[in-house]
Amino acid sequence: MLHDPWDRCHLWHPYTSTVNPLPTYKVTSAHGVRIRLADGTELIDGMSSWWAVCHGYNHPRLNAAIERQLKDMSHVMFGGLTHEPAIKLGRKLLEWAPPSMDCIFYADSGSVAVEVAMKMAIQAAVSMSGSHRRTNFVTIRSGYHGDTWNAMSVCDPVTGMHGAFGSALPIRHFVESPRVVYGAEWDPSAVVELEETIAANADEIAALILEPIVQGAGGMRFYHPQYLLEARRICDKYGVLLIFDEIATGFWRTGRRFAWEHAGVEPDIMCIGKGLTGGYMTMAAVLASRRVADAVAAGEAGVMMHGPTFMANPLACAVALESLTLLEEQDMAAVTANIESRLKRLLAPAATLPGVADVRVLGTIGVIEMKQPVDVGAFQRECVARGIWVRPFGKNVYVMPPYIITDKDLETLVNATIDIVRHLPQ
Ligand SMILES: *Cc1c(COP(=O)(O)O)cnc(C)c1O
Repeated sequence: MLHDPWDRCHLWHPYTSTVNPLPTYKVTSAHGVRIRLADGTELIDGMSSWWAVCHGYNHPRLNAAIERQLKDMSHVMFGGLTHEPAIKLGRKLLEWAPPSMDCIFYADSGSVAVEVAMKMAIQAAVSMSGSHRRTNFVTIRSGYHGDTWNAMSVCDPVTGMHGAFGSALPIRHFVESPRVVYGAEWDPSAVVELEETIAANADEIAALILEPIVQGAGGMRFYHPQYLLEARRICDKYGVLLIFDEIATGFWRTGRRFAWEHAGVEPDIMCIGKGLTGGYMTMAAVLASRRVADAVAAGEAGVMMHGPTFMANPLACAVALESLTLLEEQDMAAVTANIESRLKRLLAPAATLPGVADVRVLGTIGVIEMKQPVDVGAFQRECVARGIWVRPFGKNVYVMPPYIITDKDLETLVNATIDIVRHLPQ
């Protein structure tokens, strides 16, 4: 059965109502870049299951890594115990991370990583400054940082999907989102509001949190690397910590291992997730400089105040390590450059269609921004009819395929997407 009536009645899906929800399609298996539905239909995956599935589904090497680990242990608590998968993954992550990153906190999802990063920033900032007032945050509009409480508080107040919680959320300082787009000429006035806001409120700000280069679920915006240089300069000037949320941008999604590399600017704290396990399991991590870790240790609590039940789950660590190894074995700069140039060429015809406001590509992310919000349910019906899987949000129709996608499948995916866009009601 393609649409399950019990599911429809009893299961919440992300951001859905139990009354007249959008349809869901039952999946029976997935292989490579193909998702197979209950009626036998195969869909070319343009979403990488929310940007996480780097190597495609059912990868023999990733499957084997989990199976090997399963024979030793699927889980042990991380309090007072440790294990090789956590150590090996940690060593590998520090090779991948900005050079100043030195300590790792394993978290169970991206949102939890953001919570941990914010708690860490407060503990460190209070300890460094000696002031109990340094507990607030500044962020940029159009951001997305997850669905838990503090993560929600730094999501864009309009597009962030969290307006329903109103005054229950802590009030943060918001500044305009970086207005100079990637590839355009830098304009120094683009950081004036950021500097003024930090200057005026530095004594109560622990950190600036932002997604470097690509603002994902808050609007699919690509911005100028100079913004990060300026943000670093301003943070240093006022003693404010800098947090990079690289949960969406990590592991080659933007054509670099991490997005900070576009600017060469290092954060004090960095969140990673999504692609970390190659899309196999939920896992995220918070990386921090030795300076931040030392400040946390020197603070009142003396310890990092967090400890999830499934911290450093060995199955997740093992599959993450294998996923990183797979990325290292390939020339990922060339793989992502190939996807980028093809996306640019294939998406170009969409720019002249009526209803289209902008077309942009960075790394393996291709975006068609519409003038009007898109009807997701109707769009996805057309996708399934054409054998592709794309899920727009707001005005953005975008593709973010697994890196293993063939040139031919990428062409089918993009051409079908454009065909649906062409027939959207104006
Ligand atoms: C997806 C995402 C998160 C939240 O991650 P979850 O694993 O869904 O909790 C946080 N920040 C960014 C930038 C994301 O894209």
